[in-house]
Amino acid sequence: MARGNLFVISGPSGVGKGTVIARILGERDHIWKSVSATTRAPRAGETDGVDYFFLDRDEFASLVHEDGFLEWAEYSGNLYGTPKSSVREHLDAGDDVILEIEVQGAEAVRHAMPEAILAFIEPPSMEELERRLRLRASEDEAAVCSRMRAAEMEMSRKMEYDKQFVNDDIDKTVAEISDFIECARRHVS
Ligand code: 5GP
Repeated sequence: MARGNLFVISGPSGVGKGTVIARILGERDHIWKSVSATTRAPRAGETDGVDYFFLDRDEFASLVHEDGFLEWAEYSGNLYGTPKSSVREHLDAGDDVILEIEVQGAEAVRHAMPEAILAFIEPPSMEELERRLRLRASEDEAAVCSRMRAAEMEMSRKMEYDKQFVNDDIDKTVAEISDFIECARRHVS
């Protein structure tokens, strides 16, 4: 069986990555989204083991020490990492795998697995991004500011990705990224 493809999807917090990816997972077979580990506190409605594996800093450090992460990074004061073994298992089983990770992690994946395909989702404008972050209302003012600062840095690195998508319309963005994934799959089979 052919090995699956590894897709990395990045973009500023609040750009709609989660919504786009959820739609793609619902529409396609043989595609799996990696569940990351994080030291961030769960948001309302998030479930341990589904949205993230919520760990404390010591547990996270143990996994780093055991070389359990494909990549990990600090973002906005919290640690985030991609568990290595489950990604490998899914790729070996022929599934495509999506990593929804920030830019430092994407760079690490590109070095560790050069065959990875990297896509960046950008907002129509920074004003619209800030509006969406505030609408989400899960972050306090300091967290919104920290995420907007991180967003400026992430936007400056979007050309490091294989393809960029502007999320100005959710249906359009889902269709474009779905086509992009389909083309990449055909390319290898
Ligand atoms: P949030 O706290 O909003 O869930 O995620 C913050 C940022 O961390 C987002 O850009 C998200 O894509 C990224 N992220 C989530 N999981 C991982 C991971 O395993 N590794 C890295 N490097 N970034 C991650």
